[in-house]
Amino acid sequence: MSSRHVVFDLNVLVNLFLRRGDSAAAEALSDKVLEGKITGWVAAQSLPTLEYLLVKQLKNDGLTPTEARASVRELLQWLTTHYRVLSLPGVETVDKLHGAHDLEDAQIALAATALAGAACIVTEDKSFDACGLVPALSPAEVLAALSEREASRAIQFVDLQEQQRTVLPSLEGRLRTVLRHGHYIMGPEVAELEKKLAEYVGVKHAIGCSSGTDALLLPLMALGVGPGDAVFTTPFTFIATAEVISLLGATPVFVDIDPLTYNIDPAQLEKAIRAVKTNDPAIYPLPTRNSEPGTRNAGLRPAGVIAVDLYGLPADYDRLQELCTANGLFLLEDAAQSFGGEHKGRKAGSFGDAAATSFFPAKPLGCYGDGGMVFTNRDDIAEICRSLLVHGKGKEKYDNVRIGLNARLDTLQAAIVLAKFEAFPAEVEARQDVARRYTELLSPGPGPRPQDSGLGTGNTALGARISGLRPPHVPGGCKSAWAQYTIRLAAGQRTAIESVLKRAGVPTAVYYPKPLHLQGAFRPLGYGQGDFPESERASTEVLSLPFGPHLDDASAHKVTAALR
Ligand SMILES: *Cc1c(COP(=O)(O)O)cnc(C)c1O
Repeated sequence: MSSRHVVFDLNVLVNLFLRRGDSAAAEALSDKVLEGKITGWVAAQSLPTLEYLLVKQLKNDGLTPTEARASVRELLQWLTTHYRVLSLPGVETVDKLHGAHDLEDAQIALAATALAGAACIVTEDKSFDACGLVPALSPAEVLAALSEREASRAIQFVDLQEQQRTVLPSLEGRLRTVLRHGHYIMGPEVAELEKKLAEYVGVKHAIGCSSGTDALLLPLMALGVGPGDAVFTTPFTFIATAEVISLLGATPVFVDIDPLTYNIDPAQLEKAIRAVKTNDPAIYPLPTRNSEPGTRNAGLRPAGVIAVDLYGLPADYDRLQELCTANGLFLLEDAAQSFGGEHKGRKAGSFGDAAATSFFPAKPLGCYGDGGMVFTNRDDIAEICRSLLVHGKGKEKYDNVRIGLNARLDTLQAAIVLAKFEAFPAEVEARQDVARRYTELLSPGPGPRPQDSGLGTGNTALGARISGLRPPHVPGGCKSAWAQYTIRLAAGQRTAIESVLKRAGVPTAVYYPKPLHLQGAFRPLGYGQGDFPESERASTEVLSLPFGPHLDDASAHKVTAALR
């Protein structure tokens, strides 16, 4: 039995409020409701009877009718604040469908089957007739089943259920509002979200769009990127970062990563810019612009840089911006993984000429589908992006001034992000705690640690035992959004460690197993093995652990113990 939804029968509520019968078990179960471990339900039809019984008891206890009614009103208010009210189907429906002995019991059971996921009824009535539709258990039995489930609960790589439970009331309210007003395209939720996130990031404009990929594509289009343009980016990222460059006919010029942060290495970028300017692949590996011999890269013009905040850690924007300014390049921040992160007091999404984030469900701030957002302080970029995402519209809908896309953010997805955003700042902090815990458990110690590494002083000698294991590095002044908690393993160990963890029930993932310059899709660029050694090495040695703001200490221990 794995009930998340528990329907409280009248007799359990009476025991709870009047402290009769097994009220200790009823109270313990009620605590689980308050802690959000289960969703408590009460049948709408139970409420008048409950009120009657409680008032009667309080009057017997010597309260005046007015006093009794006032106290009971408070109790019921408490109940409907923390519990949800279950409306029951008509008696005729139940009678016909199930030929039940007790119609009221059958009504409750039938209503419980409609609750998403497993549900059960908690009752003191041993003969409760649930018609075999859902389990009917005593409070003690439900408690036992819950603790069993907690002990055996599989660790999820990213647990979105836990988050949903915290935001569910707000989420349902938001969705209901959209269903009522019916503005599914560009409804008021889109503008509300744009305003809130622009404020959060600290930029002038936020433009909702259909995905993180489109959030990268739109500003590139607004900047006029096209054939002949060299756009520098890292090969150690998700394909979308470089795909958008090629889609516009421009040429991705890959630049290797800093092996500590996994982000684009400014020193290598400087060389790559020089190589493109002088058309000299001896300075830095360059793409073949067309396959004719001797024309390697001929005519490429350095246009801009897309920096990626990999795993949630902002790139080195001080040096990147300096390089871009000095060379007349635009800077686009791929903040798909770093929303919520910071660099020297500035939020991820606020760097460069524009930034892009993604609301893909597993990203730090996700929706339940696809969605994304462009951030910028530049009025010109914002204006063109707003036009581009509605087919290049001009002043009016059927006035088209440029070739654009259909790349709007759905109102329903905006509503979902709005609900989740309420919990987001707390989640960002919880992510810091979970990351700190992992790092403590993974660090060889005790002993002094580098001040800026974000390492704790845990006393587990795991790092020493798995030689070469390195927790993530967070440079001073940076805050990661922890889209992933990614450890570095010694060469050749990953396959074995992955399978040991898998057997221990610990899911892991590799972001990314093949750097982009070795992907078939980019073969025309003419890059080869050895061009970007740090990216190539990282792709064989990184491993991301189960992570999320709700990952509990027991799970963190289980993961690190399995590693050991
Ligand atoms: C997820 C991601 C994207 C693309 O976002 P989508 O919403 O999936 O289109 C782009 N860049 C990086 C680094 C990502 O992680």
